[in-house]
Amino acid sequence: MGSDSFCRNYDFEIDKIVDFVKNIGARRVLLQLPEGLQLCAPMIIKAIKERLDNVEVYLSQNPSYGACLLDEYSAYELEADAIIHVGHIEYPYYKPRKPTLFVKASYMAIDGNRLKAILNDVCMLRSSIKICIGTTAQHIDVVKDIAEDLSSCKVTRYGIVLGCIPLNTDECDTVVVIAGGRFHCLSQALQTISSNRAVNVLCIDPYTYNVWSPSEDVERLIRVRMWKVREAFDARKWLIIDGFYGQHRPHLVQVLTAKLRNLGREYVISKALRIDRELLDNIGAQNFDAIVIVACPHVAFDLYDYVKPVLTVGEALMALNGDTSRYIYPW
Ligand code: SF4
Repeated sequence: MGSDSFCRNYDFEIDKIVDFVKNIGARRVLLQLPEGLQLCAPMIIKAIKERLDNVEVYLSQNPSYGACLLDEYSAYELEADAIIHVGHIEYPYYKPRKPTLFVKASYMAIDGNRLKAILNDVCMLRSSIKICIGTTAQHIDVVKDIAEDLSSCKVTRYGIVLGCIPLNTDECDTVVVIAGGRFHCLSQALQTISSNRAVNVLCIDPYTYNVWSPSEDVERLIRVRMWKVREAFDARKWLIIDGFYGQHRPHLVQVLTAKLRNLGREYVISKALRIDRELLDNIGAQNFDAIVIVACPHVAFDLYDYVKPVLTVGEALMALNGDTSRYIYPW
């Protein structure tokens, strides 16, 4: 599929962007998109420039895994007047310091009726009375329409699922996550297990309409994570990696360092925007017994096979408390 036909499936809300830029009188703006949508950046930039003379649009190619990572550093360096952040809604725990417009990039090729029929079937097959529906920014509009019009069960809650902030499932017996890939649904299932709630989790891929259960994947994942926690039980030297913007979590760093000090363990605190194997290799795995990623829990999952245990904050606390009776996600 060419980039044009791919990008036409998403609503980049060019009118809204143009109005926003005009209203704040911006002359320079920084455009930020997640990796999967960067292909559409040239098309978006062209559309904005066609409508706004004398406005320079810069593209950020720094990480944009979530709205937690607003590229304010680039915006300040470029003296941009505003940020246009595409693909996510605002991160609840971070307020940008620059004027920022969030564009959901709604996926328009979705068949809402087909999705509704699947959800009605799920309600009947699971004998669910109350369901919660979690999704991503791309599908929240269609989910809103469906949630208000489902005949076989009551939708008690719907909303956006973030990898580190799953949907509150207090009022439902089944939670359905509608999202591409496995990341969001697995996060929701992990949180459900972590909170000890007897809630069924089911996933629907809105691009293929495939319905799948995350239970086997989650079981496998937790087995690996518990093994990593065990490996860190006696770790003496810890590396704590904090992130930037919404991934900067000083309160969690403080909880960890207080615990480590009490236990007489050593630690180094570092900060990084992009965390990967190379970054860990540079500081030397041999220098540490365990590594905690404070920035984003999923980085720890991606580094599951690193030579030293790489843990989320919840897992690090399990290791430091010597308690594996309950898996804690995310912190
Ligand atoms: S899961 Fe990671 S990338 Fe997603 S919102 Fe949370 S911190 Fe950001």
